[in-house]
Amino acid sequence: MSHRLATGEARPRYPLTENRVQAWIMAHVHAEARPVSRAELTGASGSSRGKISAEVTRLVEAGLLVEEGLAQSEGGRRSSLLGIPRSAGLIAAIDIGATSIDVALTTLGSEILAHRDELADVRFGPQPVLGRVKELISELLEGQDASPRDILAIGVGVPGPVEQASGLLTVPPIMPGWDRFPMRDFFVGEYAAPVFVDNDANVMAVGEHWGGVGKGVDDMIFVKIGTGIGSGIIIGGRLHRGIQGCAGDLGHVSVDPNGPTCTCGNRGCLEAMAAAPAMVLEAERCIREGNSTVLADVLREQGEITARDIGEAARRSDYCASTVIRRSGALIGQTLAAVVSVLNPSLIIIGGGVSHIGNVLLAEIRSSVYQRSLPLATRNLPIVMSELDPLAGVVGASVMAAEGVFKAPS
Ligand SMILES: [Zn+2]
Repeated sequence: MSHRLATGEARPRYPLTENRVQAWIMAHVHAEARPVSRAELTGASGSSRGKISAEVTRLVEAGLLVEEGLAQSEGGRRSSLLGIPRSAGLIAAIDIGATSIDVALTTLGSEILAHRDELADVRFGPQPVLGRVKELISELLEGQDASPRDILAIGVGVPGPVEQASGLLTVPPIMPGWDRFPMRDFFVGEYAAPVFVDNDANVMAVGEHWGGVGKGVDDMIFVKIGTGIGSGIIIGGRLHRGIQGCAGDLGHVSVDPNGPTCTCGNRGCLEAMAAAPAMVLEAERCIREGNSTVLADVLREQGEITARDIGEAARRSDYCASTVIRRSGALIGQTLAAVVSVLNPSLIIIGGGVSHIGNVLLAEIRSSVYQRSLPLATRNLPIVMSELDPLAGVVGASVMAAEGVFKAPS
């Protein structure tokens, strides 16, 4: 990676650690998201107490760890607790959605310091969208009295498939103009920091697994339902990306070979039949056929219908709106049942903009999954709403970036 740095500017420290033990210590303290004692680190690592202690001392000297009070002790000397200080540096966490951008500054420990979100249209292409992202980062840095040099890593979630090796978006169906756009290079020059890019559902899964309802759950699936549909799969406590990085692309599983044409070019993909645009099309059909006065009124007042309006109409007992939501939920659940049969997860988390439209959707997904899976696979399978949403994306982007810069030099 080449960095064009102004004279006098600090060299990027990447990776941040000097060896595998240091990398493990930083990753462990980060994963715990609370102050950790040396004794606990030694116990969990399998390394000797002397080795851990020596590397902790070097990490404290490097400013990556700080002593934060004393551990509870049962006799003997009380050991101090270690945490990741704010002064270690910052992470810029970016969540690009089809219709919105979220930007956050976090500590290296992935604690959110400042956050901004606004509407955006990903179809305008990478330059205007990422240009605005850069402006937001600058504003957030100013608010924190920090400079671009304080940023140690940048994490980005995007609503399309990302080739892991290159970090490039690859033929993203709902992001025309972003195909193979060099996202990493876009930030080089202003930020002497490595850029980690991944699909938004993967990033949200990582966020929810680190600090949300999925914390401590080793086998889980995060499903994002919005303008598109995607999922992030955690197996054995780690994100499963697959060989190219596109594992979990639930939205382009075909549910009806004769269905409508999808943005990807195939027919009857789950996304084309159950995501927000498909729900809106169904709602518009209701209105045309005179089956929903509630939705007809909304359309007349606003000039358009959104998934949120359909949820609101369903809450007001509009039969057509409920049918539209139940149809989506059933299709999503049907597809998820196949995933459950293959992966046997212990938790399914539902997130994304459309997930907020109310309980009808969640209830329908649940009943569809439970109905179509073997009893053994669903005996202990909660299907719940995301806890971090709408911040799951920026939290996950921060976690992914932190884990990336902790990696030991190879
Ligand atoms: Zn498709």
